Amino acid sequence: ITSKLPRAGTTIFTVMSRLADDHGAINLSQGFPDFDGPQALRDRVGWHVENGHNQYAPLAGLPALREAIADKAASLYGRETDPETEVVVTPGATEALYCAITAVVRPGDEVIVFDPAYDTYAPSVELNGGRTRHIALRHPDYRIDWEEVRAAITPETRMIVLNTPHNPSGTTWSEADIEGLRRAVDGTDILLLSDEVYEHILFDGRQHVSLLRYPDLSRRAFCVFSFGKTYHATGWRVGYCIAPRELTDEFLKIHQYINFSTNTPMQFALADYLAATPEFHLGLGAFYQEKRDEFCDLLSASRFGIEPAAGTYFQLADYSSISDEPDTDFARRLTIEHGVGAIPVSVFYRDPPGQKVVRFCFAKDGETLQAAARRLATL
Ligand code: PMP
Ligand code: GLN
Repeated sequence: ITSKLPRAGTTIFTVMSRLADDHGAINLSQGFPDFDGPQALRDRVGWHVENGHNQYAPLAGLPALREAIADKAASLYGRETDPETEVVVTPGATEALYCAITAVVRPGDEVIVFDPAYDTYAPSVELNGGRTRHIALRHPDYRIDWEEVRAAITPETRMIVLNTPHNPSGTTWSEADIEGLRRAVDGTDILLLSDEVYEHILFDGRQHVSLLRYPDLSRRAFCVFSFGKTYHATGWRVGYCIAPRELTDEFLKIHQYINFSTNTPMQFALADYLAATPEFHLGLGAFYQEKRDEFCDLLSASRFGIEPAAGTYFQLADYSSISDEPDTDFARRLTIEHGVGAIPVSVFYRDPPGQKVVRFCFAKDGETLQAAARRLATL
């Protein structure tokens, strides 16, 4: 048959994790912690499974969880949020991103994405008959030139996809980016899709620049979040979307036919845990900053070039003083010959600029990071 996604293979995360497993390598490729979330939260899942909460949840999510999400959006970002009409709980941020794009992108529409871009954006646009316009950001600062964005906007531009803190670069937005975005979309009816799954993982005192803080921008935005990142539970597949009612209505029309609803016991458990321990996320930045610092310190003895990440649980490493190989070859060889899995950054670009950069995930126990660093120091 003729593929609807001719450009797509299996995602790089699956490919590199499998390669690491096959070769017994330390897997710093796919982003996931090698530790569990809070015991009290996990206990609640078991309790709800044992106590009859095993059938379909409501379409938009459990009311108690939606209320907790709305409270959080109000207290953290000053966004008064109606839990009834503006919040949808989804099976991971991944489904939310797909629903948002599918809800509004029509054949011929253009969607602006910043490369390196998370790998689901472009295929989701293409499946809806849209076209992506790629704006390339460059190592090491990955700064957005907002004049370039303005120049890329056409009458067909339907949406701009944003991501801060940014995977894979670990960079974060400043107020100047908000100003640039504002100038770019002012006077247009362009919609925004704001991927904020790393909202709580920022370092060195940085504050998360959530679109929810800016009413003039959030009125045209789907803002997407992930409990998987915040509670060290990527396998639970629970995320959510906050958007104005008009956008949420269209989002729900898609969500109801893709997944209908999100798994029930996890939603109950998250609602309980958010009510009992609403401050958990406040410690996440410090928790991961310690890991970033440990990993960067360990790598300082190696030949990798390191600019410490500003956020996320990813650290980029420039290997140009080690090898001239393309990053896909280097990442494979690193996994197979040196026993450390990594993600080549070029796969996040439509037109890779030929930079010699790989991504490591440092959401790992200290021992794992130390063992990986010992291997990386031999290169
Ligand atoms: N967006 C970005 C930038 C991500 O890094 C991830 C997770 N790797 C997702 C979305 C998807 O999150 P989830 O696991 O909740 O689907
Ligand atoms: N978001 C994770 C990463 O960037 C992986 C997600 C996935 O494997 N689908 O590594």
